[in-house]
Amino acid sequence: MKVLAGISQLATCRGHGRQGDIHTIPDAALVWDEGTIKWVGPEAELPSEFRDSERLDAGGRLVIPGLVDCHTHLAFAGWRADEFEQRILGRSYLEIARSGGGIASTVRHTRAASEQQLTERATGFLEEMLALGITTVECKSGYGLDLDAELKLLRVYRRLAAEQPVRIVSTFLGAHIVPAEFRDDPDAYVTLLIERMIPAVGQEKLAACCDVFVEESAFSPAQARRILTAGRRAGLGAKLHADQLSGCGGAELAAEVGALSADHLEHISDRGIAAMAAAAVVAVSLPLASLYLQQPPMPARRLIQAGVPVAVASDFNPGSAPSYHLPLAMTLACTLQSMTPAEALKGATVYAARAVGMEDLTGSLEAGKAADFAIIDAPDVNHWLYHFRPNACVRTVIAGRTKWSSPVFDATRTG
Ligand SMILES: [Zn+2]
Repeated sequence: MKVLAGISQLATCRGHGRQGDIHTIPDAALVWDEGTIKWVGPEAELPSEFRDSERLDAGGRLVIPGLVDCHTHLAFAGWRADEFEQRILGRSYLEIARSGGGIASTVRHTRAASEQQLTERATGFLEEMLALGITTVECKSGYGLDLDAELKLLRVYRRLAAEQPVRIVSTFLGAHIVPAEFRDDPDAYVTLLIERMIPAVGQEKLAACCDVFVEESAFSPAQARRILTAGRRAGLGAKLHADQLSGCGGAELAAEVGALSADHLEHISDRGIAAMAAAAVVAVSLPLASLYLQQPPMPARRLIQAGVPVAVASDFNPGSAPSYHLPLAMTLACTLQSMTPAEALKGATVYAARAVGMEDLTGSLEAGKAADFAIIDAPDVNHWLYHFRPNACVRTVIAGRTKWSSPVFDATRTG
């Protein structure tokens, strides 16, 4: 049994209530045993049975649930810094894609890389994410786009899940774009996805979810419906990249198929918002992508007003969001999307866990859930996301065990 006391503010982030309801407790204590939370409440009310337990002092800091990055493209080879410069000089994302750059360029590099190379590189990313207080990461394939290369990426994630402390949720994104070799017959690629790739992923249990990029330059809603239905048959939850570069009915489709989440939604329609609210689909906002592509962000306020839970994620990928700094994405959710710090925190914890089907295990601090949390060197949530720093996290705990700690925190350790 362990007790963390000396917490200036503890944000439980329980799932009920509105987006901004993070159910904070001032001067709090947190008790856990093995990997599971036993008690959360005001320190003054700590039950006597826990008073003799091993005690840690948070030093008057903020404690939050471990952050959940519910949308990343973690494993890939090569970078695309040249495209970063081209976009600044005025070329659009679609122009670059049409000339063989963009996702297709990452596919060429990723196909050529070995499982070992991809694993080593992704491990480095995960180590830095862990230090930011991130305890769960959703990881998409989608830079292979043939059977072998897609399975290679998902095996990288399976290895990372076994070897790394961060919890991994894998998503099959074989329907990222139509690969060059199928450009003249995209439906043949859809058939390959449905008849060979998805069943293979399901058979090896290599992914929890299936994702489709619904966009004029990628897949139509009709194709996506078929792909997600095949995914469901293989036991995979549905997710969509929807309405990013143009509105094309992606949000409506997410509601229709009962998706866990629809992500991006920069161009979502009023009908799409209403449909997502009715079907309780999580909207995943990706403000780093809006920032890098210099595009208007998801209209988060309209979604929140309609009762749609809005998650915040990094979209880490080598093109449109080459950063896995989730706390930066959260601060951008505040400044670009007019979300309050509390709303952004709920979006990067319990709603993000919901978006990857992990809400029963992680994403909030309450008895019975995993002891996944981070100690943040700030007095409260507002101060943390307002005073942006390279890293304000001083300790990351997963399943009750410290997996990352800064020297700053060790100085305050007692007991
Ligand atoms: Zn993405």
